[in-house]
Amino acid sequence: MHGHDLSPSTIAVGAGRPNRVPGGPLNAPITLASALVPGGQSEYGRHGNPTWDSFEQVLGALEGGRALAFASGIAASTALFDLVPAKSVVVAPRGAYYGTVDQLKERARRGQIELRLVDMDNTAEIIAASESAALVWIESPTNPGLQIADIEAITHAAAKSGTAVAVDNTFATPLRQRPLELGADFVVHSASKLLSGHSDVVLGAIVTNSERAHKAIEKRRSTLGAIPGAMETWLAARGIRTLHVRLDRAEANAKELHKRLSAHRLISSSRYPGFGTIIALEVVGGPQVAQKMTEQSDIITYATSLGGVESTWERRRRHPGESESVPEGLIRLSVGIEDVEDLWIDIQNVLAATN
Ligand SMILES: *Cc1c(COP(=O)(O)O)cnc(C)c1O
Repeated sequence: MHGHDLSPSTIAVGAGRPNRVPGGPLNAPITLASALVPGGQSEYGRHGNPTWDSFEQVLGALEGGRALAFASGIAASTALFDLVPAKSVVVAPRGAYYGTVDQLKERARRGQIELRLVDMDNTAEIIAASESAALVWIESPTNPGLQIADIEAITHAAAKSGTAVAVDNTFATPLRQRPLELGADFVVHSASKLLSGHSDVVLGAIVTNSERAHKAIEKRRSTLGAIPGAMETWLAARGIRTLHVRLDRAEANAKELHKRLSAHRLISSSRYPGFGTIIALEVVGGPQVAQKMTEQSDIITYATSLGGVESTWERRRRHPGESESVPEGLIRLSVGIEDVEDLWIDIQNVLAATN
C-alpha cells in the first residue's frame, strides 16, 4: 500500500489501529469481555481479546515478528521457559534482571533444567556454553549492569548447534535493537517499562517470526492463564504511539547526564552503553551515601522500575533478591523526559547535601 518500508516512528503511530470505517474509532476500544460471540478468533476471554490484538500488532510490526501479550514480563519468560524440553541446558546471564535469573535457578534446583551462567559481554564464554544447549537467554543491555551482548555472533553460533536464542529487549526497545533481524528466535519484553512509558502498567510480551513457535506460545499463555488485561494492553498501545519521541528525549538527557556525571568529583563511576535511558552510577561516599542521596532528591523520584516519562532512581542492592554481582552502592538511574538542566541541578544538590 505504501510502496516503501515505513520508518519505526510511523509504525509506532499507525500500526494496530482498527480499519477505517465511517463513524468508527481511530483507536481499538477497550473490550471488557469474558465471552465473545462464536465464529471469530476466540470465544473466551482467556484465549483472546480484540484489545490485545492492537498492542500485539504494533509491537510485532516494530520488532519484525508476531507478538503475544502476557500478564507481565515475568509471565512471558515463564511461558517461554516452560517450552524448554525437560533436563535440557539453558544458558543465561549471571548478572541480569534478578526475577528472570531467580526463576531459572529455581528450575535448575528442581532438576527441570541444567543452568549455565555466563557474562553477557563474554561472547566466547556464551558460545562455548551454548553448544548442546536448548536455549540461550540474552539480556542486552543487562539490568542493572548495562553489559552488552554480541547478539549476532551468538545467534550465528547457536544456529549451527540448533540452539534457540531469546533476547530480553526491554532496555533497548525495537527502536534501538531488533534481535529477530540479528538472528534471534524470540524477543521478550517487560512492557511495564519503556513501551508503556508512564509507570502505570504491568505487562509483558514475546515476539517471534516462527509460526510454529507463535502457536506454541499462544497455547502456553492460555494454559498458564498468564493473560494480560484489556486495560493494560490498551494503555501500552497508547504508550507505544509516543515511544520514539520519549526515547529520543530521554536518551539525549541520559547522554548529557552521563557526560557530566563522569566528570563530577563525587561520582566514582558512571556507566552508560551509549544508547537507551539507563545510567548505572556509583558515588564516592559508597552505599550509605548512595542510599541517602536517592531518598533525598526532589525532581528525580526515589522509586523502583524504569522507563517512565519521569526520572527515577534507586540503589539496587536495597532489594534483598538483587544479585551479589551488583555493587552494594550501585544506583540505577532511569532518565525521563524532564528538562536536563533541572535534572542536573537536582543531582548536584543531593550530591552536595549528602557529602
Ligand atoms: C522489569 C524487567 C523484567 C520483568 O518484567 P515485569 O513486567 O516486571 O514482570 C524483565 N526484564 C527486564 C530487563 C526488566 O527490566
